[in-house]
Amino acid sequence: MSLISVCVFCGASTGTNPAYREAAVALGRALAERKLTLVYGGGAVGLMGIVADAALAAGGEVIGIIPQSLKDKEIGHSGLTRLEVVDGMHARKARMAELSDAFIALPGGLGTLEELFEVWTWGQLGYHGKPLGLLEVNGFYSKLTSFLDHIVGEGFVRGQHRDMLQVSESPQTLLDALDAWQPSVAPKWAEQKPS
Ligand code: AMP
Repeated sequence: MSLISVCVFCGASTGTNPAYREAAVALGRALAERKLTLVYGGGAVGLMGIVADAALAAGGEVIGIIPQSLKDKEIGHSGLTRLEVVDGMHARKARMAELSDAFIALPGGLGTLEELFEVWTWGQLGYHGKPLGLLEVNGFYSKLTSFLDHIVGEGFVRGQHRDMLQVSESPQTLLDALDAWQPSVAPKWAEQKPS
């Protein structure tokens, strides 16, 4: 698939390890170098602000989507190509998904995980056929990926749905993988008979 815009989910904090900031800079820069539009939560704080600033500094286009209620708390970024202010969190996530051809999670907290898992479950159900990935930094997500393998082993997630999530430590490798991804995954309920 040919990507035009990529949504990045990431922390509204920077985390304790400088490696997280460095990864956000590297990803923002890589998106701009590939002429990919960055779509993100619109804040100027934490890794959100860092990835946006890096993309802008490298000449990239950045679209932020922020709920009115969070505009002050997450400090709506004033230098974006476009900042859309929406009614609430659901509208934010729907709009980010609508505008994006692929999704990447950097390190982050509960909001980042929620956004990643929601878009993944939408893909699993066949609501969209867009690729998604994790940018791994310093083993930040290693316990999560082990747990996901455990869930597959316990029979709650199919291997093909687990494999929808690409993981790489390199923005370039991750973007190549997302670009090459083919939406051939059968939706969760496709071949099950009604009971
Ligand atoms: P966090 O990873 O918790 O630092 O949050 C990262 C981003 O996710 C922030 O822009 C939060 O506003 C956003 N966020 C927080 N809670 C949710 C939620 N329930 N659904 C979607 N995004 C959220």
